[in-house]
Amino acid sequence: MTQPILVTGGAGYIGSHTVLELLKAGHPVTVLDNLSNANPEALARVQELAGREVAFCRADVRDRAALDGLFRAQPIHAVIHFAGLKAVGESTGQPLRYYQNNVAGTLTLLEAMEAAGCRNLVFSSSATVYGDPAALPITEDMPLSATNPYGQSKLIIEDICRDLAKADPRWHLALLRYFNPVGAHPSGRIGEDPLGTPNNLMPYLLQVASGRRPHLSIFGRDYPTPDGTGIRDYIHVMDLARGHLAALKALPELPGATAINLGTGRGCSVLELVAAMEVATGFPIPRQFAPRRPGDIASCYADCGSAERLLDWRATQDQGDMCRDAWSWQRLNPDGYRSQLTKGML
Ligand code: NAD
Ligand code: UDP
Repeated sequence: MTQPILVTGGAGYIGSHTVLELLKAGHPVTVLDNLSNANPEALARVQELAGREVAFCRADVRDRAALDGLFRAQPIHAVIHFAGLKAVGESTGQPLRYYQNNVAGTLTLLEAMEAAGCRNLVFSSSATVYGDPAALPITEDMPLSATNPYGQSKLIIEDICRDLAKADPRWHLALLRYFNPVGAHPSGRIGEDPLGTPNNLMPYLLQVASGRRPHLSIFGRDYPTPDGTGIRDYIHVMDLARGHLAALKALPELPGATAINLGTGRGCSVLELVAAMEVATGFPIPRQFAPRRPGDIASCYADCGSAERLLDWRATQDQGDMCRDAWSWQRLNPDGYRSQLTKGML
């Protein structure tokens, strides 16, 4: 497996971990990222960990000329498309920005790929496309819906991919529906580096554990779940990164546009994740119960049968591993990448 891969959004959280795995597997990797939500230090560290270099292009995925230049420079075998905006709450206030960035960005990318004759795509979709799931665990054939512009942008992109596959059988598109990615590389050198106040549970929990915030607010204690708190399918980002390599490998056998859940298949409540973090850190996490967060669903976890069958992939790491690695990252990098100097070449 040494085909050249283009990774859009490869300097971000999931992208950086995936780029590391691609380099370790021997792929030449080009990253295109506009650094709107990333620090180039992440890629400097990826190179250090891999002992290999990444070609980096600072550009927007909507910049057709930049994409054409990359496809002209070398024959790209496949694209892994992470680039996009991902904050659900923000998307409600800025729908045009989200559709422009996510939908127009993907359209520009697909047009450039078509023109270059590169028709292999692995796309970052999300479990958010299931809306409030009718049944659990969630299978890929369940009804799709969106409750905010972010989720709608993922649904629109999935539909575009399905239409493209119908129109031209030469396309192979894996629509990977991630559940809740958390954790970090076990070295503690790369991880999630959110700007401002985190919205998601794991980064917030880490900031409480490190004393940056006084307590965790647990949103809701009256859900119809065993302990009353929300249940999600947290997946270690290294398992997720491996899932992308598995998808790349399986892509020639996947017909058209194929949606595949990437999760562990196991639901974990907020209180269970807090308990796992207490074990990882060795001290208690201050927490308070708060009202439900508007728009939240009670439970969400994946049926991972398609990933096992089609990709020969399954998650191997549990919530203890996720908390241990997330905590190492937080402890070693209390301010994320921000205090670091960027290496010369990036
Ligand atoms: P991230 O913000 O860390 O990474 C996205 C990267 O894309 C960033 O480096 C950003 O600078 C870049 N980017 C954004 N818009 C761009 C543009 N127009 N042109 C070029 N680069 C651009 O996010 P992440 O958590 O790594 O998520 C990656 C992908 O996975 C996103 O598409 C996201 O919607 C999807 N996803 C994430 C989660 C999650 O919980 N993290 C869950 C489901 C799906
Ligand atoms: N959550 C919480 N406190 C927080 C952030 C999240 O109790 O500060 C809960 C949230 O209500 C949900 C779970 O943690 O039940 C996961 O939330 P997150 O935002 O990480 O993921 P999503 O809801 O988007 O799946």
